[in-house]
Amino acid sequence: MTRKLESLGVETVADLLYHLPRRYLDRSNVTPVREVKTGEEVTVVGTVVKAETRLTRSRKKMLVVTLDDGTGVISGVWFNQDYHKDRLPPGALAAFSGKAGFLYNMLQITNPGFDVLGGGEGDGESGDAGDERVRGLHTGRIIPLYRATAGVTSASLRGLVSKALELVKGLADPIPPEVVGRFGLMGLEEAIRETHFPTGPEALKKSRYRLAFDEIFTMQVGLALTKKRRQSEAGGLVQTGTGELTGRLIESLPFRLTESQERAFGEISRDMGRPVRMNRLLHGEVGSGKTLVAALALLLAVEGGRQGAIMAPTEILAHQHYLRLKEMLGDLPVNVELLAGTVGAKALRAVESQAVDIAVGTHALVSERVAFKSLGLAVIDEQHRFGLEQRMSLGLKGADPDMLHMSATPIPRTLSLTLFGDLDVSTIDELPAGRKRVSTVVASESDRRNVLAMVRNEVDKGRQVFVVCPLIGESEKLEVRAATEEAEVLAGSFPGARLELVHGRMRGGEKREVMERFAAGEVDILITTVMVESGVDVPNATVMIVENADRFGLAQLHQLRGRIGRGSEPAKCVFFAEPTTEEGIARIEAIKSCSNGFELAEMDLSIRGEGSLFGTRQSGLPDLKVARLRSNLPLIKKARAAAFEIVDADPLLSDPGNVLLRWETNRRFGGSLGWLFHA
Ligand code: ADP
Ligand code: MG
Repeated sequence: MTRKLESLGVETVADLLYHLPRRYLDRSNVTPVREVKTGEEVTVVGTVVKAETRLTRSRKKMLVVTLDDGTGVISGVWFNQDYHKDRLPPGALAAFSGKAGFLYNMLQITNPGFDVLGGGEGDGESGDAGDERVRGLHTGRIIPLYRATAGVTSASLRGLVSKALELVKGLADPIPPEVVGRFGLMGLEEAIRETHFPTGPEALKKSRYRLAFDEIFTMQVGLALTKKRRQSEAGGLVQTGTGELTGRLIESLPFRLTESQERAFGEISRDMGRPVRMNRLLHGEVGSGKTLVAALALLLAVEGGRQGAIMAPTEILAHQHYLRLKEMLGDLPVNVELLAGTVGAKALRAVESQAVDIAVGTHALVSERVAFKSLGLAVIDEQHRFGLEQRMSLGLKGADPDMLHMSATPIPRTLSLTLFGDLDVSTIDELPAGRKRVSTVVASESDRRNVLAMVRNEVDKGRQVFVVCPLIGESEKLEVRAATEEAEVLAGSFPGARLELVHGRMRGGEKREVMERFAAGEVDILITTVMVESGVDVPNATVMIVENADRFGLAQLHQLRGRIGRGSEPAKCVFFAEPTTEEGIARIEAIKSCSNGFELAEMDLSIRGEGSLFGTRQSGLPDLKVARLRSNLPLIKKARAAAFEIVDADPLLSDPGNVLLRWETNRRFGGSLGWLFHA
């Protein structure tokens, strides 16, 4: 049993108490099959009467599992996921949730969420127990559904939880009573009991709210602690520029800064001028002019007699930043150097002696060989592509340099207050005037001839075209093959056009060479794998074609689209997509109808759910099991204020009344706040 529990991540009594039900079933949210209407979101409960795999005409494996609930039959349909079959054998009692439809000549739900309530292998309970539970449903009991594993049934889990609750009678509450009172929270012990053994819908709701609050609140406490610590650290640089270089750059521009740019640069210079280390996120739409703001910040550091560094995730992007900075700063007495790939000894010496003012590079910048004489500002472009560790190590290349993190994916407010909650945030929420809107078309195979004709037309007019090939799982090899095949097909359709292929398996130098020729207008059609998404700026490119667009994430599609429409000509983006999953359909609908990156980011969040956001790569932040950020912005703001209030008054949570909160916060942050305990 212990081993089985471990496979659920349950090792301690606390783990057990916090192994919360995933969902609940009660009469009010189960629909009898007879009353199911197509197009509606429903949950149905019934006995599996048939589970079979069919082959579709396009040779996809389709798993059809049919439920009978006594009022009718409905099927769950999965594509290429026939492994679900083992968990749903005939006789099992199961719940399916999702949007009902009438397709393939049957009432069905495509890709339903499902739970095995009894009789199935995954749950292990006998059919009888399951049937008893369906009757339970109809006597008004609320049934908690756990994420189960083979051999640990929901029933045995509930038995264990009940014992655990006996053990911890009088559970101490880490949330200060004042906060519990202010937010009208249910007591912790009661909340845990109610969430496992709901006595009624109202109590259940209050218990979930309490547990969600704890997640949000402790997360904000942890963020507040981290931020406070950084701000109280001695040694933040005071970088007050003279305005000499920044002023000259601004004057030399053929345009004026947008209001957002002015504001962002104002916030950055204020931070840099204070003896506190800056840790700021600069985010905004692709093409909103973040790079220019970063350039100004770098100049500010140089004006103050220090160096700046900007780190990008790929060599191509680093190279592009390098060229653009050289161009922008051409007339200024500023030395810019590129550090990417194999870095020569000469460049290293120049950085170390401060002969170089601004170093542009890839992660090569954080290699041990690189040392700065006096690093004042570290900029990290596309910050989400770097691990926390890499970002930190750039900051270690100087004595507490100011840090600026950039993201070309606009980040919804809910996330900037959580995922990046210990950062200050500058938002660029407007595009430079005169930017053309990219018109977006979703196409299917039958449109291909028309699309190719349009491409020919643009190429004849001297414009350039991106063709982005599908994302194929994790396999770069397959992607390269797809791109190569696409290039061959296109070469056949466009005799005489200058085609080039660029993909992730090419060496840095080769890739760069192709990109440069594309940028210089020596290539008409560039076929790429997805790597092109980052920052490539070619104003003469007016068309982008994305194959199998439904495989890409929404943010990625928007990023891709942002590569065009950078010049004065109208631009077109064609997404080839015939999505089959609900998620895929929703994404394609969203990208077609919306051109605002912030709105798309919100939609993305609601389509994908939030689970995926809190990966280890991003953050080292605690998991959110109960709380939903999206719908909770007001609560997040209030909890954040309360958390910061407490931490402002007691920055190490050392008051006796806060000690439990300190332990609990550190526990939820996986121990990463250990410094609190030996400060
Ligand atoms: P981002 O880094 O946010 O994707 P860039 O800094 O690459 O955006 O800017 C995109 C393009 O817009 C560049 O060619 C840049 O010169 C131009 N640009 C930046 N700021 C302005 C502005 N205020 N007005 C007009 N054009 C601008
Ligand atoms: Mg950029």
